[in-house]
Amino acid sequence: MEQWKLVECFGQSPILVSSMPSVAPANPALKILFVSTSVGPLGSGMGGGVELTLLNLAKALQLRGHLVQTLAPVKSISKGIDIIQVPGQLQATAQTQGRAATVEMPADAVIANLWEHARQRQDDYDIVVNFAYDWLPLFLTSFFKTPVVHLISMGSLTDAMDGMIAQTLEQFPHSIAVHSGIQAGTFGAIANFPQRCTILANGFDLSRYQFQPAAQAQLGWVGRIAPEKGLEDAVAATAKTQTPLKIWGAMEHPDYWAEIQQRFPNAPLDYCGFLSTEDLQKQLGLCQGLVMTPKWVEAFGNVAIEALACGVPVVSYGRGGPLEIIEHGVTGYLVEPDSVEGLVGAIAQLDKIDRATCRAQAEAKYSLEAMGERTEAWLRKSLD
Ligand code: UDP
Repeated sequence: MEQWKLVECFGQSPILVSSMPSVAPANPALKILFVSTSVGPLGSGMGGGVELTLLNLAKALQLRGHLVQTLAPVKSISKGIDIIQVPGQLQATAQTQGRAATVEMPADAVIANLWEHARQRQDDYDIVVNFAYDWLPLFLTSFFKTPVVHLISMGSLTDAMDGMIAQTLEQFPHSIAVHSGIQAGTFGAIANFPQRCTILANGFDLSRYQFQPAAQAQLGWVGRIAPEKGLEDAVAATAKTQTPLKIWGAMEHPDYWAEIQQRFPNAPLDYCGFLSTEDLQKQLGLCQGLVMTPKWVEAFGNVAIEALACGVPVVSYGRGGPLEIIEHGVTGYLVEPDSVEGLVGAIAQLDKIDRATCRAQAEAKYSLEAMGERTEAWLRKSLD
């Protein structure tokens, strides 16, 4: 039973205090170490959607009172989060390597250096969260004393990764999260993967995106300039409609971009480089629509939510993450995959979409707060 006693209080009247040992709050704040992608510094665009996802997650968890620190390659831009910069050579991207690709590492690999830092600092944290789509962090999970969990940012690409994800899940049943059910479904080689992983979706700091009620006569395309993003189809569509196409994103494959320009000399294109979120949303908000033309199963598609947040409807191939994001006829159009004619038809219907509804859907489904809640639940389950 709880006992009470009188305690002298610095010359004032004695007060009654409980003699029970103080009880820790039900959900104490966590000390969390993020380990970023090893394909590029944060802010470079080479890490694709992972960069914004990491930033948003750090903010979401900090809002919930947790401490978050991030290990990331040197030249990473902090944007208000606490970053420890780690040197070393960047990892090659996994998108175009083929299913049989072997695990490769350059000399002085930044991924090895990041995880050596994580190993040395692990006692300072309750949990370590990996953001790299790479074999090594998964393999290292069982060598750490502090629990390590993994946010898998792409669908199934190589047998080596599938095997290591399966092994990690076997040993640590709650350690894997993904962004969408469709992404989870690509890991067919892992028994019951969609039921065994945690589906987190994504969340955005919507205050960074300004709603634009009116558009100019232009379309937008946002993403890494890379074959799996299918930019050539968006260009083919705008060559037909002659609607100016603004393109924003990191130039990952310059040869691919040069080839597109040669193939479509009459397309009204404007490549505007890789912009900060603040500048990107200003420009994107002026578009009639965002065109998404993924040739692969997009795990999620951050750019779809960013467009909706600005009030911009999305025309996308009905493939991958956009299938779970876009409500056909309400926030944009889902088009038969690889059909340029389908894109052209949908672009002609963009004025039927209510831009305020697009913004409202982003707010209702993809807030930072909801993402923080889902992520904390995942982390706590992994710690049980
Ligand atoms: N992005 C940006 N500035 C740009 C173009 C793109 O910050 O000028 C970001 C965009 O916000 C998004 C990421 O690049 O977070 C692309 O992510 P997405 O999930 O669409 O595709 P991924 O590159 O991961 O396949």
